[in-house]
Amino acid sequence: MSSYSFRQFFDVPQEVSVRINATNICNIHCTHCDNDAHLPFSKNGDLIFRRKALIADVADIEKFCRVMDGVGQEDPHLLTGGEITALPLPTLIGYIDVLFRHGRKVGMRTNGYNLRGIPPDKLNLLDRIYLNSHGVNEEAISASQDYLNEHYRGRVIPEATLQHRDLKSVVRHGEGTVEQALACDLLLTTLTLLPPVVLPCCNTWALMNSLNTDALMGALVEAGWTVNNPALKDTLRNWRQTLPREFLEYFCADSCYKTRSTPIPLYPIEPHPRDRVLKRIPIARES
Ligand code: SF4
Repeated sequence: MSSYSFRQFFDVPQEVSVRINATNICNIHCTHCDNDAHLPFSKNGDLIFRRKALIADVADIEKFCRVMDGVGQEDPHLLTGGEITALPLPTLIGYIDVLFRHGRKVGMRTNGYNLRGIPPDKLNLLDRIYLNSHGVNEEAISASQDYLNEHYRGRVIPEATLQHRDLKSVVRHGEGTVEQALACDLLLTTLTLLPPVVLPCCNTWALMNSLNTDALMGALVEAGWTVNNPALKDTLRNWRQTLPREFLEYFCADSCYKTRSTPIPLYPIEPHPRDRVLKRIPIARES
């Protein structure tokens, strides 16, 4: 069977990576977190994505792999959250195993919280690990780096995200156009899986949080952007026709920071009394 990169498949100029936002749980409380993962869960609260913990089903990730077989296997797939290592270890290992088994190049982005809990044989199924410092988690970054030096053969990519935008102050700016959206360098090049829904870019979930609406999720599902659509491949291949117009109009053009003409201030991430930086655990051995 012929196999395509996502770039060829979507006919876009940039290389494509797949983000898998597997959870909205996080161990730290970064100021203005894009996905509101710094805020507590509240069953009857006003914020729709903070009413309960989201934990992706391994079965949904497997469905994505099956239905997209032959497309993008060699493109990077990045497990992220929230904080991916704050999930129960068997769940995280389930994600790694299923992606690896389907021949997908899999990596993860972590703040280091429980990286040392991942057994080395599972860790070494990962192609790359982004160690993401937020300034408040240096102890976890340093402990993770030591553990990786000893046990990991893949690529370790240090990153620093020390500031965030206040996305809620940006939405409904009304300054952009659909043409700008269609030219956005993130459109389809950060294809995002919020299982079971497939999102057109990595900023979509953050925008849904900031606009406090899940209406777009419904529109995407109706348009077939879900792993439950057996024809997902055709739906994504024809993205120019199938992507709901409201995404381009009300999310990209009206509310995304990428289409706002005026610069957006950045705010430093501050320590929080409820931050749990490093999980105190016995170091993992081969599973
Ligand atoms: S939501 Fe923003 S980042 Fe995503 S494609 Fe639209 S303009 Fe680009």
